[in-house]
Amino acid sequence: MLAQRIEAARLREYAAKAAHGTLALNVADMPRLRALLASDSSFELELRVEFSLDHEKRPHLNMQISGAIVLVCQRCLEPLNWPVALSASLTVVDDEWVAAELAEPFDSVALVDGVLSLPTAIEDELLAAVPLAPMHDVADECHAPAAAKWVDESDGPPANRPFAALGSMLSAGQSGHDDQEN
Ligand SMILES: [Zn+2]
Repeated sequence: MLAQRIEAARLREYAAKAAHGTLALNVADMPRLRALLASDSSFELELRVEFSLDHEKRPHLNMQISGAIVLVCQRCLEPLNWPVALSASLTVVDDEWVAAELAEPFDSVALVDGVLSLPTAIEDELLAAVPLAPMHDVADECHAPAAAKWVDESDGPPANRPFAALGSMLSAGQSGHDDQEN
């Protein structure tokens, strides 16, 4: 089991010997993420990390985050299970200034006072992955009044629904065929 906070010297040691380890992360340790979750129950996520050195001899983390969190549906305000299965690949840099000079600064994590905080790094990854306006995918699971359900594509905040456009194209193609319930 890894420590939540890893000092630079230990991090280099892990990286040099390509160590790997796991850590149970409690959402209670991630206040920014917790603010987005339903109620105040806590959820555990499992983190698996493989350490290595990159081509510039900087510590590099290959991470897998798994588990589930409960978000709030932005349509009905009821809990919404959100399975977590994220991979992240991060280069560890000494400070934010170095990060800004990297070709891909978003793929890096900076030490703070010479220490890497795994919960903070994971929280950043989760915040980037969580949808801005999560909603139940299946209308039956959504407790919003029928009128508020997304009959109209322009209704409600934008959500990550890659097939929504396809759906409206298909229904436009069927315009001569009236199968709506009335
Ligand atoms: Zn809902």
